[in-house]
Amino acid sequence: MKIVSVDPFILHLPLTAESIADSTHRITHWGVVGVRLRTSSGLEGFGFTGTHADPASDRLITSCIKNAYGPLLLGEDAVEHTRLSYKLARSPALQWVGRAGITQLALAAVDVALWDLRAKHADLPLWRFLGGATTTVQAYNTDIGWLSIPTDQLCSGAKRAVDEEGFRFVKIKVGHADPAVDLKRLRAVRQAVGPEVSIAIDGNGKWDLPTCQRFCANAADLDLFWFEEPLWYDDVESHRVLASSTSIPVALGEQLYSLDAFKAFVAAGAVQYVQPDVTRLGGITEYVQVADLALAYRLPVAPHAGEMSQVHVHLAFWHPATTILEYIPWIKDHFREPIVVRGGNYVLPQGPGAGTTPLDSSVAKYSVALT
Ligand SMILES: [Mg+2]
Repeated sequence: MKIVSVDPFILHLPLTAESIADSTHRITHWGVVGVRLRTSSGLEGFGFTGTHADPASDRLITSCIKNAYGPLLLGEDAVEHTRLSYKLARSPALQWVGRAGITQLALAAVDVALWDLRAKHADLPLWRFLGGATTTVQAYNTDIGWLSIPTDQLCSGAKRAVDEEGFRFVKIKVGHADPAVDLKRLRAVRQAVGPEVSIAIDGNGKWDLPTCQRFCANAADLDLFWFEEPLWYDDVESHRVLASSTSIPVALGEQLYSLDAFKAFVAAGAVQYVQPDVTRLGGITEYVQVADLALAYRLPVAPHAGEMSQVHVHLAFWHPATTILEYIPWIKDHFREPIVVRGGNYVLPQGPGAGTTPLDSSVAKYSVALT
């Protein structure tokens, strides 16, 4: 199964709403920036990272895939996917300029494509290729909770997700300049969905430490499941202080690029819900290392949906530290095997591979030029 071509691609897929905003950005499309690896056996592997659909930065990633990783992949046997991933991750020239940012996002796409190939080669869905399902996976709905949604619609959307779609867990974005606005919105949502629905919140790193501490004290009666990215993404010490001063569990990880970054947070006691993402770590290879790290500390893993859960659904069913997975339905219908949530739980995928093969029709319609 020799790799005979390395073809990057960019898809800009429209959201289910006209646009959404959290505390840091507003977007209209999700960028699926990835690679198609063709092999001598005829099998094709697909992997991608997730972006804000910005053509200029997306092209940095595809250029890295094509020009930096491409020559290291051509002619190699895709069966040896672990060796290949390390060959790319430890390339001296790329290690010198990378280990985070563009080179890591590009590596993530390639690594996922290699795993997709290995699972397809075995004719198994990735979760079975890895060793089978160990758990059921509950879905939590993020798409009803954006900061840009007015409070009345926030409540009706959360109630609809619970009453009509079977979700038992929703996530609400926070991060207004005045946190009292967020508290008011959360109280309205809690009243709308009742005491038995889990509500997590996500600040996207907006607030400073005293604001977070004050907010957590004032939110103590809301029974919040976790506070995600309360503080700036890389700040281990402030997260440690917050985690030790509130009973609301801290969740983070979607902005972390490496096993070592996770290790620093876990070792400091600065995180309770560990949220790795194959699209930002060096793909599935490093994700598994992070999930095992969390398991060793008896911390739950709740993956971030940078790939909108097409890949993470496999990893969540397989890895015993994961029972919860984010649900955002923006891109699923552009894939051969879309993720499915029924009664608030994910349905086990059945097709071979990692769930990353896009529909030809979507590629034809939503591709963005590479130059
Ligand atoms: Mg988040």
